[in-house]
Amino acid sequence: MNSNEIDIHKELKKYFGFNQFKGLQEQVIKSILNKENTFVIMPTGGGKSLCYQLPALIQEGTAIVVSPLIALMKNQVDAIRSLSSENGIAHVLNSSLTKTEIAQVKKDITSGLTKLLYVAPESLTKEEYLNFLQTVPISFVAIDEAHCISEWGHDFRPEYRNLKGIIKQLGDVSIIGLTATATPKVQEDILKNLDMSDATTYKASFNRANLYYEVRTKTKNIESDIIRFIKQHKGKSGIIYCLSRKKVEAIAEVLQVNGISAVPYHAGLDAKTRAKHQDMFLMEDVDVVVATIAFGMGIDKPDVRFVIHHDIPKSLESYYQETGRAGRDGGEGHCLAYYSYKDVEKLEKFLSGKPVAEQEIGFALLQEVVAYAETSMSRRKFLLHYFGEEFDNETGDGGDMDDNVRNPKIKVEAKDQVVKLLEVVRDTKHIYKSKEVVFTLIGRVNAVIKAHRTDVQPFFGSGVDHDDKYWMALLRQVLVDGLLSKDIETYGIVKITKKGLDFIKKPTSFMMSEDHEYNESEDEAIVT
Ligand code: ADP
Repeated sequence: MNSNEIDIHKELKKYFGFNQFKGLQEQVIKSILNKENTFVIMPTGGGKSLCYQLPALIQEGTAIVVSPLIALMKNQVDAIRSLSSENGIAHVLNSSLTKTEIAQVKKDITSGLTKLLYVAPESLTKEEYLNFLQTVPISFVAIDEAHCISEWGHDFRPEYRNLKGIIKQLGDVSIIGLTATATPKVQEDILKNLDMSDATTYKASFNRANLYYEVRTKTKNIESDIIRFIKQHKGKSGIIYCLSRKKVEAIAEVLQVNGISAVPYHAGLDAKTRAKHQDMFLMEDVDVVVATIAFGMGIDKPDVRFVIHHDIPKSLESYYQETGRAGRDGGEGHCLAYYSYKDVEKLEKFLSGKPVAEQEIGFALLQEVVAYAETSMSRRKFLLHYFGEEFDNETGDGGDMDDNVRNPKIKVEAKDQVVKLLEVVRDTKHIYKSKEVVFTLIGRVNAVIKAHRTDVQPFFGSGVDHDDKYWMALLRQVLVDGLLSKDIETYGIVKITKKGLDFIKKPTSFMMSEDHEYNESEDEAIVT
């Protein structure tokens, strides 16, 4: 069946009741109907599920949907069943089913009734299921939450690594990968692991134009600062994220004492209390929920007006997901993060107990959070660049919606320094991460620099006229401008790009502003 032969608008209306497709849905559906390998990257709420549900419903055979969470699969199956009079139209296949239930699932698939079959990756490896699935027509395989395949994603699941081998055993079926994680490294991992470099990629913008991004120094007055902020947003809903349960409890209590209706939420509370607090927030019996990251998955409250990070998150992906819970209705959403370098050190200490590979990845992700917090360039531009998206503050939606754009630091001409920086990266031949590049410029030695004998090179110390903070700020801005790039595979080695080489040949004006100085207080930041 070819996409040209089906009126997919009519089918959309018939099954889902919608009049039009959202964003890239139509293109994605056509690509799936044409049996192409397809890769879909859309932020949460972008409408990914429909991208594979509609083609599954209107094609011959059964579509297999791989999904990591049983609860999530159940919700999806219920939603699809509500669109049809036949329960058998969608099924979950997993080990919790009885023999009779499994027989029913197989019967419905064999008779052609089942259009969508949800499976966990570990169920798909079961020989019994695999043998059966080899005997029935499969329309395609959709891999939901495809970032689980990558150690660079926020939810790595080793079982996802075996998927390609299993899918191959199903014959020549097309694969649809879907994710809301947009970093270039994760995307590359997905395409590589699923062996689908030929896939057509559909990527929606991650720009959330109505969200305002702000970072404040974390001082010992943080609690009164938060109280003041909430009082300025009186009666509005908000979430405060903390990294430890202890801090969650403490902040919730401080807010309550100060007349703010707030409840705590973390995995240490019993299920009943958690459900109660979540409902109170959803029903607007309380304004604020103070939570660990346990709170938020699947929370669909459209009018959350602020998300405060009392402690910095472990990665910018987490930050994007968590702040993304603000302003879902398109209205105001203030995203405020408190930053202290001590928090970073605590997170690093926490990471140091982990296996080496995990540590390296953890450090690299954390460094991006530090760069985001310290930068004086547009936070939106920085975040979007992290997700592989170019953003122009002059023309892009929400271009003035962050603290750095609203209160810009004075910019200075840095053309000559950019050339110096680029030359150092070029002449050290792409062996260094940011730190060693900066050390080379200011003439500071460490073991790595000694080992490569960079300290005897003529360019060693060529940037002594400025300090390390200056160079780090410039390097971050040059990275976002695409004159340099960071190789994530090697945990952050900095390389010069074609654009960077051109800049050396023909330098143009480059205005930079120095990073923020954060003067922290003592005794703050409690992290697990
Ligand atoms: P994602 O999986 O990308 O987070 P969902 O598939 O859950 O997003 O979709 C988010 C919301 O958008 C759902 O409430 C869904 O019903 C709605 N939606 C999806 N497609 C359309 C459409 N074409 N028109 C209107 N609403 C849509």
